[in-house]
Amino acid sequence: MKKFLELVAEDLLERKNHSLHELLIIVPGKRSRTFLKHILSQLIEKPRFAPSIFTINEFVENESKLKLIETIPAIALLYQTYSNIITKEETIDNFWYFGEMLLADFDDIDKYLVDAGHLFKYVHDLKEIEQLFDDLEGDQIELIKQFWQNIYKGTGAKSQEKVRGQFLEFWKHLYKIYEAYKKELSSAGMGYEGMLYRETAIKADKNQINFDKKKPVFIGFNALSGAEKQIFNAAKAAGGLFYWDYDQWYLDKKHHEAGYFMRQNLRQYPSTLGDKHNFDNLRNKQKIECIGFPGELEMAQKTAEIITSKAKSQDDDPLKNGIILGNESLLTPLLQTLPDDTGKINVTMGLPLQNTSLLGLVKILMQVKQQKIKNKGNTLYKSAWVIEVLQQDIINTPNLKETLDTLINEKRLFCEVDLLQADPIGSILFPVKDINLIEYLKSILKAIVEYNDEEKNEKDYFNTGAAIKIYSAINQLTQQIENYKLDLPEKLMVRLIDRILSSINLTLEGEPLKGIQIMGLIEARTLDFENLIINAVNEGFLPSSSVAPSFIPYNLRKAYGLLTFENQDAVFAYYFYRAIQRAQNLTLIYNSNEADNDYGEKSRFLQQIAFEFPNTITENKYQHVVTPINENPIVIEKDQTVQPLLNQYLNGKRKIYPIQLNTYLNCPLKFYLQYIAKIKEPEQLDSGIDQRIFGQIFHDTMELLYKPLSGTKKPISKDMLLPLLNDETILKQINHIMAQQFGNIELQKKSNGMISLIEQVALKYIKRVIENDIKNEGFSLYGLEEEYEIKHQINQDQTITIAGKIDRLQASGNQIFVIDYKTGKVPTQKPRFEDLFAHDLPKRPEAAFQAYLYTTIIENYEFAQNKELTPSLLYIQENRPIHPIIFSGRKQETYADLKNDFKAQLSNILTELFDNTTPFKQTEDSDMCTNCYFKSICHR
Ligand code: SF4
Repeated sequence: MKKFLELVAEDLLERKNHSLHELLIIVPGKRSRTFLKHILSQLIEKPRFAPSIFTINEFVENESKLKLIETIPAIALLYQTYSNIITKEETIDNFWYFGEMLLADFDDIDKYLVDAGHLFKYVHDLKEIEQLFDDLEGDQIELIKQFWQNIYKGTGAKSQEKVRGQFLEFWKHLYKIYEAYKKELSSAGMGYEGMLYRETAIKADKNQINFDKKKPVFIGFNALSGAEKQIFNAAKAAGGLFYWDYDQWYLDKKHHEAGYFMRQNLRQYPSTLGDKHNFDNLRNKQKIECIGFPGELEMAQKTAEIITSKAKSQDDDPLKNGIILGNESLLTPLLQTLPDDTGKINVTMGLPLQNTSLLGLVKILMQVKQQKIKNKGNTLYKSAWVIEVLQQDIINTPNLKETLDTLINEKRLFCEVDLLQADPIGSILFPVKDINLIEYLKSILKAIVEYNDEEKNEKDYFNTGAAIKIYSAINQLTQQIENYKLDLPEKLMVRLIDRILSSINLTLEGEPLKGIQIMGLIEARTLDFENLIINAVNEGFLPSSSVAPSFIPYNLRKAYGLLTFENQDAVFAYYFYRAIQRAQNLTLIYNSNEADNDYGEKSRFLQQIAFEFPNTITENKYQHVVTPINENPIVIEKDQTVQPLLNQYLNGKRKIYPIQLNTYLNCPLKFYLQYIAKIKEPEQLDSGIDQRIFGQIFHDTMELLYKPLSGTKKPISKDMLLPLLNDETILKQINHIMAQQFGNIELQKKSNGMISLIEQVALKYIKRVIENDIKNEGFSLYGLEEEYEIKHQINQDQTITIAGKIDRLQASGNQIFVIDYKTGKVPTQKPRFEDLFAHDLPKRPEAAFQAYLYTTIIENYEFAQNKELTPSLLYIQENRPIHPIIFSGRKQETYADLKNDFKAQLSNILTELFDNTTPFKQTEDSDMCTNCYFKSICHR
């Protein structure tokens, strides 16, 4: 089966007896030109003069004698024109989106040769319509009437009245803006695309296009705008040739939307290639494979698998293997999935900058000024921001990766600039001196281009392209700001850059004549591939559900012959059917995951071909297979590898702490992973401050304040405590402790409201403890935050050391309270003694267990002899002194009553822990796993 461009090239060579230089060929896009030249060069045996081949855009730019203005200067000028006519103050960043819409509407109006004076006419009275628009046809007048009727129809709703009023006010000015804007552009010898088309169409209408005394040839067009039709008319009059790419299948069916425009084209400009046989391929299609996959990654993987099975490294024919991406965001997963030995790949498509990781980085970097702090001549950056920057894929120098690890591990809120400056890229990203934002961004983009160039990493070529595009957009913008002397505060500038960059497309154009071709649907026009995969064949992409926003309402678009959403569907239908009509091996892949909100159901085009070619289609649908992964529980035997590690507790090298025993009781496997295998949970730097750090500040401050009163065993009086109840004294100590944790505390407070909050909360709770201690005067303090230990005999040969740091040992008379501070909420229920040693119990009374174990530890110390020991908790959120632990249903029982039972159970659990025949197993209650770091290991 011959490809469309082969048919065209052969016909041209035959028709012109190889005198191609007599032709002026016009094609829809650059890619069609490249491939046409390639095919011509393969058919020509002897060197010949090449034909002139232009894209339609190049042709109209030449003919109109206007230079195409780029989007950024075009919208900046439109802003000026708008501001001169509508005096209401509108900032340029607010205007930008509005300007893009307005420009697209002006573009449409000119491409479709619409009389803008008519369209933007303000109608005072419905009767005016027939008089004003008497040159329009009956149904056009009806549509216009409907539009104005809707506008005038009162609904009584105030908000709607207001919107209608605003619309009419704006509508009144549109024609003035349109005219003034075009005048400005023409006087500068410039124009937007539509202007260039209209100018050329006017010339064509006056028969002033001479096509350079050559025969005009138009290849591969479909939906023609009014201006294009006028140009085609002139070409027809000049004996032009028209090569249309279509299939009889949809052409012959009067209502098939894929043939909607083509039927009109063939009537008005008959096809130069008359032989219908070459255009009747769909009817004879042998096989179409449709596959549904439940996600983007799976679609990308399948695409890579199919294409690599077909592509041979020696395949240089660029029309052999093609991939059309219905959704551009599939490009990155696809490139990552293609194996390294895939051979040449060419990507030609428009990729929104939004889909590149570089734009993400640039947006983060735009916050640089708020992240930098000067302190006594030193420059610091907020660590959370530095981490965010360094975690971006593009920043991958080894030095900066190391800095990133350091910052995460050290958990400091600020990062000294010296740490970052050691790396050349780091010194640009994190400057010491104040720098203008624009210059800062430009220097980074330049560095990224140079770095990627040095690295020569092919996968980075996106970043290089994106960096160049962003650099040039920023340059253009600053130039416009200078031209129009716009006074933009930096905040507004940041918003404007953000808005502009978010709507820009990166045009990827690689070496197109080798290897696998990856493209968008539009870039595939006129091309036929032997092996073709189309991806994301879902509603929303094929056809696209996004209709370009417009100020011109639907009725008016329809009345004036502008493209509407129905036309857009017909355009997509043509692109789709055209792409598949000559493919020999065709695979259509869609996202079958109905829960994926980014995708609609499978495309109507798929449903349509399933109906049209029922015997040709094979369909397979894959779903995520959900299998109970945890069929084999994780069990760690205490074998020769584990025993020596466990024995460190038995040979005096390690002590066991209450927190470790709590972990073991909750989940023996977690104890193994955390304390034997020593798998550490990574420290996360939180921009807020967690409970654990707050607890530490409270404990350490209490220790500092009470230390002078502790250890003497003398009763502490109210007078001794009152000096502590002073905000300044307490704050001084809190700040001293916080400075150890966070560095310069005054500086931190300025930038982190959380620090001041912590300070105030800690002050409140510490004062409350002191106040309660004052009420309870006469107690003595035996110790604060001190570590105590006991030896515990597991069996005849084995002893371990149980140790614990006790927050406060307080004595009143003969009673010693073993106190553990608790910063969390006060539990609503009393603990149960039976639960202290329970395995697999989600709400085990860990605090009571810990306080009981501390008490068991100090029991053997001399100061505790003959004393009444009382395990207690002090909940700092509660306004009362201490909670001696009372178990549910055991009100009368004290530590003395329960200690033997406690010790017996402690012995049992320690025996179990060190018993080599009892393996470490996972907890049986998966509620215990909810916040466990090892969830991914356990598949819980
Ligand atoms: S995830 Fe569950 S089973 Fe695994 S270690 Fe954590 S608590 Fe134990």
